[in-house]
Amino acid sequence: MFIEDVISRIWEPLSIKYEKQLEKAKTFDDDQLVTAITEKLIEQDSHVFKNDWLNMTSLNTSGCPHKVNDGRFCGCSMCNYFSGDMELLAMMSVVKQRNPLLYGKTLRFCFENSRGKSAIPNVFEYVNGHDSLSTEEFPQEAFHELFCKENLFSTKPYRLIFEARASSVSKERLMVYKEKCARNVEIAFGVEVYDEWIRNHWLNKNIYNHEIVEAVKIIKECKCQSRANILIGVPGLTEEQSMKLLMDSINWLKDLGVDYITLSPLVSKERTIQGYIFDRLKDSPIISKAHIIGGFEDGTPSIFFVFDAIYRIMSDSELIDKMVFAPVNFMQYFVDKARLYQSTEQKKLCRMITNALTEFDIKRDFKILEEVKETISNDTSYLNYLRDKKQENGEDKLLCTLGMVGEEIAKTLWPYTWESKACNLQEEIKCYSRPSIGE
Ligand code: SF4
Repeated sequence: MFIEDVISRIWEPLSIKYEKQLEKAKTFDDDQLVTAITEKLIEQDSHVFKNDWLNMTSLNTSGCPHKVNDGRFCGCSMCNYFSGDMELLAMMSVVKQRNPLLYGKTLRFCFENSRGKSAIPNVFEYVNGHDSLSTEEFPQEAFHELFCKENLFSTKPYRLIFEARASSVSKERLMVYKEKCARNVEIAFGVEVYDEWIRNHWLNKNIYNHEIVEAVKIIKECKCQSRANILIGVPGLTEEQSMKLLMDSINWLKDLGVDYITLSPLVSKERTIQGYIFDRLKDSPIISKAHIIGGFEDGTPSIFFVFDAIYRIMSDSELIDKMVFAPVNFMQYFVDKARLYQSTEQKKLCRMITNALTEFDIKRDFKILEEVKETISNDTSYLNYLRDKKQENGEDKLLCTLGMVGEEIAKTLWPYTWESKACNLQEEIKCYSRPSIGE
């Protein structure tokens, strides 16, 4: 696929680095590997986020199997979930292949190093690799060592949340989590958008709608909770097109009966497609005229777009308690925007919207959003934003926009052979069929 070529090209320097580290790690015996891994883990804090009710602990595993892709790094196009520490990643991969039990012990060490032995749990606990139900990232022996042998916490947390790919959800592992680890287990999986062609041919997710439907069914049968992650803003599309995809995604997931939906604003990250468009194409007259997400501001959608999206979603009262704001992504998005907007007026608006969304997240009172909507409705910059949106390509030009952005990306990545790459994308576009809600 075109997008696989794009992402593996962007990640090529890291794939080369990883390969070298892998060769080096293979020369170590088990003791040397564990010593080197332990030294690195001691320096790190895997307790990545905490507030009054939530802790997030991130395990340094051998990486997301979809991303690592046997050393040819090529995961989801909007994700860069990696520390960049290829040495640690390669060592974890070698120890996992050689001795899965030892790999499990190093993962337990990773958790205990940051949280302590028999950690006191918060109400909500996230414990994550990347695909926590994957037998590739967590082989049986490692899974057993980490989650079955001895509880990670002093008492079972009220709710334990794991990230997983929908294709990895299995009854067997879910039942272990449920019986051994927590009073309630929630599985969060990436949907990103409902349109599976966009999800796979553009976001490179390699997850199909039937896998999501099946995952939700299994999670329900195991009496666990499901949480679907979706994106506010699709890189390479206009805000107008992204809004349509977002609302379709919400409607589909609501009909499917997922318990929660996590909203994640697109954030600026290196080695992602939004990062690439921003770095290499923001000055292109074609990209800037089309007002492509990735190509303006800091490479992420505008604050008015994010606010309007949330306002539209929350105006459906049935959704208010279903929606979750992704804590880390929202925090980063707000910080980035506060840094970006420079004029007093922009700063004031940004602060007002940020404060209102933060307050709304706690109180879930739609009036908070209504007040902001009323205030900005007469604001010149908001009116300009609405006016500009009318000029943007809409849903009817979705494929045309993708073809055009793909071509611009191809020209910079393969200056001499871009035509054949752009042609490949056009061939894929010919197979596009837009699903209707209910399929
Ligand atoms: S979004 Fe998840 S599945 Fe996709 S590459 Fe990142 S960690 Fe892997």
